Amino acid sequence: MPNTDFLGGRVAAPRTADTGRRVFLSAAALPLVGAMALLIRPSVEDIPASIDLTPLAVSVRPVETTPAPLSVEVKVEPDDTLDRIFRSVGIDNTVLSQLRQLPDARKALDLLRPGDTITLTHVDGALLSLNRRISNTLTLSVERAGDGYAVDYIENPLDVEVGATRAHIDSSLFAAGRRAGLSSETIMVLANEIFGWDIDFALDIRRGDEFTVVYERKFQDGRYVRDGRVLAAEFVNQGRVHRAVWFESADGSVRGYFTPEGQGMRKAFLRAPVDFTRISSGFNPHRLHPISGRVRAHQGVDYAAPTGTAIWAAGDGRIQFAGRKGGYGNAVIIDHGRGITTLYGHMSRFARAMRSGRRVTQGEVIGYVGSTGAATGPHLHYEYRVDGHHKNPAKVALPNVKVPPQFEQEFRVAAETALTQLRVTSRAEGQALASR
Ligand SMILES: [Zn+2]
Repeated sequence: MPNTDFLGGRVAAPRTADTGRRVFLSAAALPLVGAMALLIRPSVEDIPASIDLTPLAVSVRPVETTPAPLSVEVKVEPDDTLDRIFRSVGIDNTVLSQLRQLPDARKALDLLRPGDTITLTHVDGALLSLNRRISNTLTLSVERAGDGYAVDYIENPLDVEVGATRAHIDSSLFAAGRRAGLSSETIMVLANEIFGWDIDFALDIRRGDEFTVVYERKFQDGRYVRDGRVLAAEFVNQGRVHRAVWFESADGSVRGYFTPEGQGMRKAFLRAPVDFTRISSGFNPHRLHPISGRVRAHQGVDYAAPTGTAIWAAGDGRIQFAGRKGGYGNAVIIDHGRGITTLYGHMSRFARAMRSGRRVTQGEVIGYVGSTGAATGPHLHYEYRVDGHHKNPAKVALPNVKVPPQFEQEFRVAAETALTQLRVTSRAEGQALASR
């Protein structure tokens, strides 16, 4: 009975997780591959390899005179139906009604998305198996079992590698990050989730700034899928060194980015309360001096940005004022408690429901850049005041959160691993640059 063979093979097909694994350290870091390998920690997602039956389905060895099974991969076109696909492949489509009665498979079979791939294996038009990828990590598998079909969902977890890269900024953070092989998402994590409280990415990035990132990359069957978590990063901004490590306590109660000393990177106030990715001057690769429009003649900071650029609440607080305010034009004032207020002027419009008394959280969009009031061009005018006195937000010490004492030991161990990776990468790249 061919079916017995076919199903009997189920248990014995370990997936070769190592196929096509790539080492992606840059050439300059190659001598250090050995050292890096020692530092690579198993990731939570690196769970044991699952079983992929696709190769089996293709290699079913027919008993006696049965014709060889044929495996066809079909790409779903717009408006395709399974019925049409079966006919095009030459599979007897009377089996469809049988498949649709399988309670676990019906939905996954009926909702085809253009671009999906479906692998069909048949013998002489009789369907043996159907595999359809549901997501990056899940595949629907329908296989003949006796007189009917059995449905299975096969998990195909991602393999995680840890690598490191270093980038020099010639024109923009974005260009440098992309050149160093980082995904856009990872670059945004650096700016928004790690260093956004210490570095003003709209105004303070300079040519010659550099950064090092130790991060995860995810692969599936040897193919790069996406970047994973940033584990450690260093940013040298105008000569000042900022370092951060990711820490998650074993019990999961503490997680986030911290300085090597255990201070939280997240702080009460963002350095730049504006979507700096829209500030073209800061991210235009043709401009070597990315920052224009820095005016500190008055008591605030100006961010030149296109009309409509989102303005973020710098910190948690309550709207004290939202409306027209003389030369400020459309302005919002947020009361953050402890005598601290922030003001945002020249807005083209307010975000919905921005009225006094409303609570806002850090990073929430409160309005959009414009040139209302006494403004020569579209920009955000931002003021930070303590007890009514203007302060330069870049000079104000901001409160943050420390790793709780009971986790200090655990943190030190984790941080040391990450920091060693950072050091190894910085040094290797530094030497490579020096020898160029
Ligand atoms: Zn101003």
